[in-house]
Amino acid sequence: MEKRIIIAIDGYSSSGKSTMARELARRIGYVYVDSGAMYRAVTLFAMRNGMISPEGNIDTARLIASLPEIGITFEAAGADGVQHTLLNGEDVENEIRSMEVSSFVSPVAVIPEVRERLVALQQDFGRKKGIVMDGRDIGTTVFPNAEMKVFVCASPEERARRRYLELTAKGVKADYDEVLRNVVERDRIDTTREVSPLRKADDAIELDNGHMTPAEQMDWLMDKFHEIEARPA
Ligand code: C5P
Repeated sequence: MEKRIIIAIDGYSSSGKSTMARELARRIGYVYVDSGAMYRAVTLFAMRNGMISPEGNIDTARLIASLPEIGITFEAAGADGVQHTLLNGEDVENEIRSMEVSSFVSPVAVIPEVRERLVALQQDFGRKKGIVMDGRDIGTTVFPNAEMKVFVCASPEERARRRYLELTAKGVKADYDEVLRNVVERDRIDTTREVSPLRKADDAIELDNGHMTPAEQMDWLMDKFHEIEARPA
């Protein structure tokens, strides 16, 4: 039988992880899971239910008590080629990408109970292998035994530039400096939190994609995949 592996792609905000992870999964016929979308969906749920004040104060106790009510699923890619995130059955794919959700998501992702629940769901997705998952702690916490681990990095300015272009292309009004501040702030929170901080797993291969085109990144990833897939189990 064909060997199927687990591929963990971690890295900083807006490093292009999701785009490359999604494309890799499509090419090799694997399932793709965007773990960041799951933290974003929980954040949206908290915002909608008045658990986050406009200043960003989180009613942690109420959010933790509500976790069993938060259902997160994915709908296979449709005509737009993008997999949609569903929150209790509702398509929230666009809403979870807003600047507002982006600015509250890292503080929500710090809460250990939120992480515990989402990590369990993510591990469930990976039970049959044949999966590409991107995030911050996939190679370190969710799948420490993943056969292929990639850690993606690029400068904050380059990542902010990409995110800015992505938002404006979607017609979302954005300010480059605000996007840059958000990228830097999320890096800070993600790398310094107590539970599963963002860090490169010891056995991850590093990809600095600051000066690479998307096509070059895909070639690099496909080469690594074929190399690892060919190794004896
Ligand atoms: O990948 P994305 O930027 O959509 O993730 C949103 C946020 O969710 C991150 O800034 C991080 O705070 C959190 N996250 C996380 N662990 C993951 C994926 C995302 O803490 N595995």
